[in-house]
Amino acid sequence: MAVGFVKAVEGRTTLLVPELSLTAKVPPKTPAFFNPAARLNRDLSMLAYRAIALSLPAKTFADSFAGVGARALRVATEIPEIEQVYGNDINSIAIEAAKEAAGLNSVSEKCHFSIDEVCKFLLHGDAEGERFGIVDLDPFGTPARHIDCVLRAVLDGGLVSITATDTAVLCGVYPEVCVRRYYGRPLNNDYGNEVALRLLLSLLALTASRLELAIRPVFVHATMHYLRVYATVSVSSSEANDVYSNIGYIMHCFNCGHRFASKEYDGKSKCELCKTGLRVGGQLWTGPFHDKEFVKKMLAQNPDTRCKKVLDASLEEISEVPYYFKADEISSKLKTNPHSVQKIIEKLQSAGFAASRTPLNTSAFKTDANIIQILDVLRK
Ligand SMILES: [Zn+2]
Repeated sequence: MAVGFVKAVEGRTTLLVPELSLTAKVPPKTPAFFNPAARLNRDLSMLAYRAIALSLPAKTFADSFAGVGARALRVATEIPEIEQVYGNDINSIAIEAAKEAAGLNSVSEKCHFSIDEVCKFLLHGDAEGERFGIVDLDPFGTPARHIDCVLRAVLDGGLVSITATDTAVLCGVYPEVCVRRYYGRPLNNDYGNEVALRLLLSLLALTASRLELAIRPVFVHATMHYLRVYATVSVSSSEANDVYSNIGYIMHCFNCGHRFASKEYDGKSKCELCKTGLRVGGQLWTGPFHDKEFVKKMLAQNPDTRCKKVLDASLEEISEVPYYFKADEISSKLKTNPHSVQKIIEKLQSAGFAASRTPLNTSAFKTDANIIQILDVLRK
């Protein structure tokens, strides 16, 4: 074992990780990067990969930024349906640790590790030069520069999973950077993380359509520090032609809190409720985030409480509304004590509106009622 590395068990897998990464507040990038706090991210990955493993066109998994192999080794050890696992990183110390840990888990035969630039690794393909069944991309910062290579590396009917950690950019702190990376404007507001996920998905969908491919999101989630999307990919120019049926804008009024999805953006709309200026988010993905059948397959694996919480809310979420409302935003408009999210949902439903929780914020809800209708319902 390399100096400074220790064993750490995650899931059913033994990893070799830098000792400092287990104690430091921010895990160091040298000698190798490992983030123990990303366990939820990896736990959800295992549920998602297992949900699709049997229907993959090839039982292969590619981890573009493998680091010490945390995700790749867990796939190799915990998902027997995946037959071959390819892990790549530019850091040779990290890859040495991953190789050694593969031996500890008795999965060396199905694991292939390489030290290469990401796009070179992805386009090289598997041992036969074929595309992969699942391609994961979990970089430091933005995934934008690697999206083309990821899509070119996955098989028809395969899955891509992509993490973005440039959340400040996607949530609206640096709008110009967001526009050049994701071709859409962010909204720095209460539901910025939902807009962020939709910007990431629209870049993925539009890039796919340029490559005669179509994507279909099956699961997404977000925390303070990252956003993550899972989407199946199919080779279909007719589906690619339809890409704009799921691309649009979210219009938001920072004066009265009104928000709505729109196919078109004319640049000069006024808020229909208060007649002041609207701000625009997008272009972005306005279609569904989740394939409910896929989420059910993830839930059927008896996940732990943290994963189950995310999955239950994903299953419940109404998919036709591409934004949410925070409970405290509503209570401050009503000048009352905060209502519980559950109470708000019940009241909206009994008034005839669609309403649900959202997995993206535990103190928020989704509804097809507009802001005036919400306030009216809650005043009663
Ligand atoms: Zn307004």
